[in-house]
Amino acid sequence: MSGEKRKKINSVIIFSVLAFALFILVIFDFLHKETVTTEKYTVAMGTVVTQKILSDKEENAVCDEIASLIDSLENRISRHKESSEIYLLNKNNTVSLSGELGDILKRSQEIYNLSVGAFDITVGKLTSLWNIGQENADVPSQKEIDKALPFVDGSKVRIEGEKAFTKKGQAVDLGAVGKGLACDEIREYLEKTDISGAVISVGGSILLYGENNGGKWNVGIRDPNGESGDYMGTLTLESCCISTSGDYERVLRKDGKTYHHILDPKTGYPAQSGLKSVTIVCENGFLSDALSTACFVLGLEKGRELLEKENAEAVFITDENEIFVTDGLKNCFSLTSDAYNLAGE
Ligand code: AMP
Ligand code: MG
Repeated sequence: MSGEKRKKINSVIIFSVLAFALFILVIFDFLHKETVTTEKYTVAMGTVVTQKILSDKEENAVCDEIASLIDSLENRISRHKESSEIYLLNKNNTVSLSGELGDILKRSQEIYNLSVGAFDITVGKLTSLWNIGQENADVPSQKEIDKALPFVDGSKVRIEGEKAFTKKGQAVDLGAVGKGLACDEIREYLEKTDISGAVISVGGSILLYGENNGGKWNVGIRDPNGESGDYMGTLTLESCCISTSGDYERVLRKDGKTYHHILDPKTGYPAQSGLKSVTIVCENGFLSDALSTACFVLGLEKGRELLEKENAEAVFITDENEIFVTDGLKNCFSLTSDAYNLAGE
């Protein structure tokens, strides 16, 4: 071999070794990039919002953007905000629709129909009578409830073209889906960023986004018999939405009785279906939130029948401290409290 040719081969070998070393270094650096967790706590939609963002750097601007997304959604869908279309709908029993509200009303009607009226956004007149969670909460008289009940009828919400109509005197309350809708908006926003993972909890609805350092997320299910922060079990899940409706969330105590905020549209009183809480897991926040309220009102058997029609899973906790877990969550759920019995074990 000529000296010239050997020189050429040597330099090709040296170049390849260097390129390979550089490649290994880049991979090593990529794998060992420290994950930074940015946290933020705010209050919105009448509840606490907690954000945990995983990234390779501090993400305060992302947290601020998420907080303002939730505020903006609240301004658009709260019936108490005079700027909202829902406020105008309740005031005039008709409103010109933006695409967003029309969509929410249509999807709510689907769950109203599927749940045979257990989930009904026209509970507004009743929720205003009880005001549970507000300073002026009180137990209404039977007469007041009887007067309000005829206005609770989701079948009277009509959408015609660009307009929505309700029955005169009806009041729409989107409290059962607002937090889930917030989770959906936040997910859409995060998809436009390079955030690798996030857990955002908006009251009883939680968004699990992306990966937890390459793995799954562990989420505690609140112990309905305990204090806030007490858990009775955990779910190990990939990205999804989780919503819980429970009898401990907002309560009114009067004359030795405790009343909670999820109302049975048929009776006008807090639902008594034999459940302390229902936790729904599915891909969509609106759906998980709507189904958790619906299943809480329906109770275990009818709730499970409803879930069979939707692509959603659940953990039910009964008044007798029995836990029922739907098939799709059986391998994801761990009971951590011995105050409860796992059905079928
Ligand atoms: P959640 O905590 O998601 O179950 O939602 C409860 C909230 O939804 C209440 O505070 C009311 O604003 C509203 N609500 C109560 N009962 C119902 C019901 N049966 N259907 C729809 N919304 C309801
Ligand atoms: Mg709900």
